Amino acid sequence: MNHLLKISNFIGGKSVEPLSGKYLDNYEPAIGQVYSLIPDSDANDVQLAVDAALKAFPSWSAMSNDDRSEWLIKIAQGIEDRLDEFAEAESRDNGKPVSLAKSVDIPRAVSNFRFFAHALTHFSSESHFMQGIGINYTLRQPIGIAGCISPWNLPLYLLTWKIAPALAAGNTVVAKPSEVTPFTAYLLGKLCEDIQLPQGVLNFVHGTGPQVGEPICIHPEIKAISFTGGTATGRRIASVAAPMFKKLSLELGGKNPNIIFADCNYAEMLATTVRSSFSNQGQICLCGSRIFVERPIYEKFKADFVAKVSALKVGDPANENTKTGAVVSESHMQKVLSYIQLAQDEGGKVLAGGQRIYPEGRCKDGWFIEPTIIEGLSHDCRTNQEEIFGPVVTIMPFDTEEEVLSYANSTIYGLATTVWTENLTRAHRVAERLESGIVWVNCWLLRDLRTPFGGVKNSGVGREGGMEALHFFTEAKNVCIKYQ
Ligand code: NAD
Repeated sequence: MNHLLKISNFIGGKSVEPLSGKYLDNYEPAIGQVYSLIPDSDANDVQLAVDAALKAFPSWSAMSNDDRSEWLIKIAQGIEDRLDEFAEAESRDNGKPVSLAKSVDIPRAVSNFRFFAHALTHFSSESHFMQGIGINYTLRQPIGIAGCISPWNLPLYLLTWKIAPALAAGNTVVAKPSEVTPFTAYLLGKLCEDIQLPQGVLNFVHGTGPQVGEPICIHPEIKAISFTGGTATGRRIASVAAPMFKKLSLELGGKNPNIIFADCNYAEMLATTVRSSFSNQGQICLCGSRIFVERPIYEKFKADFVAKVSALKVGDPANENTKTGAVVSESHMQKVLSYIQLAQDEGGKVLAGGQRIYPEGRCKDGWFIEPTIIEGLSHDCRTNQEEIFGPVVTIMPFDTEEEVLSYANSTIYGLATTVWTENLTRAHRVAERLESGIVWVNCWLLRDLRTPFGGVKNSGVGREGGMEALHFFTEAKNVCIKYQ
C-alpha cells in the first residue's frame, strides 16, 4: 500500500496528517480499485482547523476589499493554470469524463472565485431615512468561521461555490469535502500553500460525515453551515445545528421533472434532453429524471430519444472522447441497479439500457451502468417519487397542462424543472405554478451566477448565488440614529 498517494488535511496554511494517523481508502470508480488514502480525521482535527481559522479571522476580516478580492483572483488563476491537473484528479475520483471536468466543473470553480472576487467589491448595504426623525443604516459584517460541507457529484464546483462567498464576505472557513471525492480539495489546499494564502483563512479537514461533518456542525465557534448533499443528511444537520441558532443553508436532493409540450423546438429539445438526463451519468442534482411528453409527439419522442441514448458511448473517463463515465462508487451502482429492478417490479418497461457494463481493458472492473430509459409507470410510484441520482429516467405521456402540473408537483422535492414550449404565455403560466426553485424554459443548466440558487420543499432551505450568498455569510446589524 506504500505506493498509494496519501492525501493530507490543509490546516493553518500547511499540509498535515490526521492526528489519529488513520486513513480511509479512496477508490477510482472507473477501475474499481483503491488509488489513494484519505485522512480519517475526527473532532480533534476539526478543533485544530477551528483554532487556525479563529487566529486568522481578525486580519482576514479587517483586510481591504481590494486585497481580499486579489486573493480570490489569485486562487482562480491558480486553478486555471492547473486546469489539466484538476480535471484529471476530478475524473479519477468521481468517474466522470475528463472532458466534462475540463469543460464544465473546473472552469466553473474558476468562475466561482472570479465572480465573488468581483462581487465583494460591489457589495453595498442599505440605508433607510425616517423623514425629519433620523436615519438607519445596515452594517453587513462577517460572521466569523463558516463551515462548508459538500457532496461528491460536482466536487470542486460545489465546494468553491460555498468557499468563495464565505471568504469574500470576510469569514475564515473550515471545509469538509466529500470523503468519496477528496482529491481536488487536496489540490486546492496545495495551491493555497503555494500562493501563500494567509495561514488559517481556508482549512480542509478530510474524513467521514459523522466523524468530521458533524463536529463542524456542532462546534460552537462555527457560526454558519453551508451544506449541499442528500435530504436525510440535511435533516440530521438541521437537527443538531438549528438548536444552536446557527445560520443554515441546505441544498438537498431532487426529482426533477422535464415537461415537453408538442409545440417545442423539437431538435433543440431532443439534444438538450439527452444532456439533461445523462450528463455526469445523471449525477447532477439538476438533471431531469421524470420526462413528461405531450401525447401528440410522445411516440416520435420515444423512438428518437431511445435511438440517441442507445448510441451514447460509455467507457473509460480518462479517454478524452468519452461522454459517459463510471458512477461514483460500488454502493451507489448497486443502489441505482436496485431502482432499475424496482421500476420493473412496479410494471415499468426498460426501453434502453438497464444493465451494468463491463468495458474492456483497464476499466473491466469499474462501476458503469448503461444510460437507462423506462416507460409504463404511474407518476406516483416509488421509482417516480424517490431520488435515484444515476443514469435512469422515466418517460410518460400527458394530455393537459393541468395534468402535467399535478405530476410535476407530486414529489416531496422541488429543485429544478425544465419546460419546453414555444408558447410564451404558457411558459410564464407554468413557471409560476411549478413548485420548484429553478425553472428553465427551452434550456438546461444555463446559469447567471448573480441569480438566487436553491430548492423548495425537501430540496432545501436558503439560497446560494450572487448577493444572496454574501448576505448569508454576513450578519446584518441596523444602526439607528435619531436627529438631536
Ligand atoms: P451526502 O448527504 O451523503 O453527503 C454530503 C456531505 O455531507 C459529505 O461530505 C458527507 O460526508 C457529509 N455528511 C454526511 N453525514 C453528515 C453529518 N451527519 N453531518 C455533517 N456532514 C455529513 O450526499 P452525497 O451522497 O455526497 O451527494 C448526493 C446528494 O447530494 C444527492 O441527494 C443530491 O441530490 C444532492 N445534491 C444536491 C445539490 C443541490 O444543489 N441541491 C447539488 C448536488 C448534490
